[in-house]
Parts: sequence; C-alpha cells; structure tokens
Amino acid sequence: MADWVLITGGSRGIGAATAWRCAEAGWDVAINYAQDSAAAEALAARLHGLGRRAVTLQADVADEAQVARMFERLDDAGGRLAGLVNNAGIVAPQARLQDMTPARWRRLFDVNVVGTLLCCQQAARRMSTARGGAGGAIVNLSSRAAEFGSAGIYVDYAATKGAVDTLTRGLARELIAEGIRVNGVRPGVIETDIHANSGMDASGVALTIPIQRLGRPDEIAEAIVWLLSDAASYTVGALLDVAGGR
Ligand code: NAP
Repeated sequence: MADWVLITGGSRGIGAATAWRCAEAGWDVAINYAQDSAAAEALAARLHGLGRRAVTLQADVADEAQVARMFERLDDAGGRLAGLVNNAGIVAPQARLQDMTPARWRRLFDVNVVGTLLCCQQAARRMSTARGGAGGAIVNLSSRAAEFGSAGIYVDYAATKGAVDTLTRGLARELIAEGIRVNGVRPGVIETDIHANSGMDASGVALTIPIQRLGRPDEIAEAIVWLLSDAASYTVGALLDVAGGR
C-alpha cells in the first residue's frame, strides 16, 4: 500500500495530469472534484489500471465542513496522507474593476485562497511530526498572473494568486520544522478548459509567450510531482515558474 496524495480539482486539466503522473510515480491518488463526477470516476478507473489505489472525493474546497468530511473519508480509506496538491481554482469572466461585483471577489477568494488554507490546515494536522504524523509535502497552484496582475482581464483572480504565493512562503517556514515541505508552482497559460470560463482567447496569447506556444497540463504536472518527491528534499518555500519564459 503506497502513501496517498490528495489533489484538489484533480478530475480535469492540470489536476488530472498531475494525478496521472503521481500514479506513475508510485503514489495512491485521491481525486477531489466539485461537480463533474463522471470525469473523476473515469480518471480513477484509468489509475486503477496502473495498479494504484484511487478514490474520488466530492467537495467544494471553499466549504469548511465539506473539506473536513473529505479528509475524514480519506482517513477511512486507510494509509498515510503524504502529499497534498492545492490545485482547485477558478477564474471569472474577463472584466475591468468598475464592472466587477463583490460577490465575484468573495467567490474567487473563497475557492482559491480560503480553499487552499482549509486543505493545508487539514493536511498539516495529519502530516505534522509534532502531532504524531510522519511529515509530507504540499504544493500550491499559483499563477504567473500573481506577478503581472492581469490588468483589464481579472485583477481579482491575480490577487488571489498573490495571496497563494504569500501563504506558500509563510507556511513553508512555519511547517518545515514539523516535517512538511510547502512549495508553489506558477504556470503560464496552459491548455485547459479554464479559459472558456473567462472568455480569454488562450490560443491568441501563444505568440506573446517567449516559447511561442501554450503549455500542456503534463508540463505543469512534471514540476508538481518533482516538488512532492524526495528529489526536492531541500526545496522549501519555492515558487517555481513553469511558463515558457512568460
Ligand atoms: P480546470 O481545467 O478548470 O479544472 C478545474 C478543476 O478544479 C476541476 O477538477 C474542477 O472540478 C475543480 N474545481 C473547481 N472549483 C472547485 C471547488 N470549489 N472545489 C473543488 N474543486 C473545484 O483548471 P486548470 O486550468 O487545470 O487549473 C488548475 C489550477 O491551475 C488552478 O488553480 C488555476 O488557477 C491554476 N492555473 C491555471 C492556468 C491555466 O492556464 N490553465 C494558469 C495558471 C494557473 P469540476 O470539474 O468537478 O468542477
């Protein structure tokens, strides 16, 4: 029986590619999703084909009670939680500040920031060597938008990722003494369904990227799996840009 890695938003896009690479690397994989159970179940079946345990866990990461229940369900599955990837994230339609609503800001911060905090908290309670755990690794999905600010597109989304960067740096320093390594990955523009929700023409952006193309989910997964692994044993509080030079 291998150790578990829990991937929030693991059913599609970057999360699904990460689930696949984690299974290939020898982890058992817990796939969190919000709504699309068919995608989560189909991925779990593929991971079973690799000989790995795979469970699907529905939960809105923004909801404290649902997150707590998700981790309890994973406890019930047996075995040790050794990895967490805080990947679940949302964008909102492209807009300028004057046209945004506070409800939109709250939902973005609830999912992208509070969701990350809630999952880090539950994982740290289980992994902490100060609480009888055996340590572990956490990887938070930020974005290059945290640096650029996404003016005229979605400054609110970019701000949530700035918060993810800050809490990644802080938690890394807080938790390393308890055997938990925390790091972040900051993708550039990656080919996933997320852009359909913002109305951004991702393919039109390709020529503005120094490498002249969008990234693939598996190219982000590779960085995440490395940060989870013992090969990254001295990497703490890093924010790894995987963005084709952007
Ligand atoms: P995606 O294709 O839209 O997939 C999102 C995943 O998150 C799905 O599995 C979805 O589940 C899940 N999810 C959404 N809201 C959730 C919630 N409240 N609770 C639990 N799960 C939820 O996204 P992606 O492009 O792979 O992005 C993954 C992460 O990378 C995000 O944090 C995003 O901000 C970051 N990122 C992406 C890009 C990019 O260009 N794609 C660039 C920089 C950073 P359901 O299908 O069930 O809804």
